[in-house]
Amino acid sequence: MTATDAEFERTIGIAEAALERIKALRHAATPHNFEVWFTYASGINPSLNQIINDLIGRNGTITEAQVEELYLKHFSAAHIGERIDKVGTQIAGEIEQVMSMIEASIGTADSYSKSLAGATEEISNDQDREQVRAIVESLVSATREVESKNQVMQQRLKDSRQEIRELQENLEVVRTESLTDPLTTLSNRKFFDDAIERMLKGAETSGETFSVILTDIDHFKKFNDTYGHLTGDQVLRLVAVSLKHNVKGQDIAARYGGEEFAVLLPGTGLAQALTVADHIRRAVQSKELLRRSTGETLGRVTISLGVAQWRKGDDVSSLLERADSCLYAAKDAGRNCVIAENTLEDGRTKVA
Ligand code: GH3
Ligand code: MG
Ligand code: MG
Repeated sequence: MTATDAEFERTIGIAEAALERIKALRHAATPHNFEVWFTYASGINPSLNQIINDLIGRNGTITEAQVEELYLKHFSAAHIGERIDKVGTQIAGEIEQVMSMIEASIGTADSYSKSLAGATEEISNDQDREQVRAIVESLVSATREVESKNQVMQQRLKDSRQEIRELQENLEVVRTESLTDPLTTLSNRKFFDDAIERMLKGAETSGETFSVILTDIDHFKKFNDTYGHLTGDQVLRLVAVSLKHNVKGQDIAARYGGEEFAVLLPGTGLAQALTVADHIRRAVQSKELLRRSTGETLGRVTISLGVAQWRKGDDVSSLLERADSCLYAAKDAGRNCVIAENTLEDGRTKVA
């Protein structure tokens, strides 16, 4: 058996073991699930196997949502890391090439100026016509050689410039991906955390206010239990689209956690933020859900929202705590509504 045959047998064995797992759990055979179980079966990531074994040990099984969570945590980030490393190595290689070209060109210029110096000396020592001609000819040929080397170098520098430009674009794509939630394509939690920190610092120095909306899907657990997590994921995308359509310009809409979202509204006071929140709420409520495969109607989902505005002296957690407590008040008030801090007798405004 050749090494390739052995590799074939080994990988097919792992793939079959992964598929067996997926079948036994009655999970969908999606690329994410398959990647997690393939890695598990291969045993190449012992800490991942430990986490999965612990989960199964504790609960007797593992849910599809837990597998997806493992995927997002252990795989997509790992891919991004790998790609950053790859781009980094390419850039280093490109810089190495440019450096050696520059060194070669310094060498050429050096030997050219030595030829010139040598010729000048010979000419001043010897006035014989034939010899002068020979010297001039050798100078002309040295000049041609330098010229042609320069042309080659110019072309290689041009190619390098293009290559580096492409690598820069690649890096930008990877950077954007590392700050984007793959399921909804909204900004991810890391982007949100950095943005709110930045906005807070800006508000402290310039005094320009901003508001934050936190939102959570109503009775989402029941929806998932009834229709399955894959359909649940479609709902997450639908909420994400509703957020995107109702924010603009500098606003930042992010997936904050599993089924929780957040919006940052720079230069926006509480009343305006409340209006935006209510537009989002209405947009989600207005959409009738259809199961793609069968066209079956799944009804509607609603969301609850809490709104808070930056105050002098706030830090990130004090501001988010106020938004969160408004969100919970919205749940208490019957869901599918918006509660903003600090108006009405109990200090809050409710819109539904
Ligand atoms: P409430 O109205 O009080 O918010 O009720 P709820 O059922 O939505 O309660 P909670 O917010 O605690 O529920 C979270 C549920 O959201 C648990 C899980 O089923 C679901 N969920 C969280 N993250 C994801 C995800 O990434 N995909 C899917 N499909 N479901 C998720
Ligand atoms: Mg929740
Ligand atoms: Mg919820």
